[in-house]
Amino acid sequence: MTARVLVVEDTPANLKLVNMLLDRAGYQVLLAVNALDGMVLAREHLPNLILMDIQLPGMDGLTATRLLKESVATRHIKIVALTAFAMKGDEERVIAAGCDGYIAKPIQYQSFLAEVERILASVPAPTASSS
Ligand code: MN
Repeated sequence: MTARVLVVEDTPANLKLVNMLLDRAGYQVLLAVNALDGMVLAREHLPNLILMDIQLPGMDGLTATRLLKESVATRHIKIVALTAFAMKGDEERVIAAGCDGYIAKPIQYQSFLAEVERILASVPAPTASSS
């Protein structure tokens, strides 16, 4: 089964790059440029993974992550933060918001795809049943 990845990112160049990398790697990709649109797509399509930019116009990515992790319908979705700040304390903030991981921008092709694969392969939510 092809994994579905939702990317929430407001910077066009980053969105384009991440879309291209994921598409080339064979993922099914959904795109949103703000948190509200991202949350609507997340509820509608229940992606396997969300790559969530932190700095977004309007609602920020950490708030959106908290809301998605508070909702029973979407809490199982893995969320990896995409952030330009790689400063001390940021990783803690990101994890505290409920993110399952963290990718620092600028995106490094190899490590980016490796991290996406790693997160997708990690232990599924307890509600998931094997078939
Ligand atoms: Mn941004």
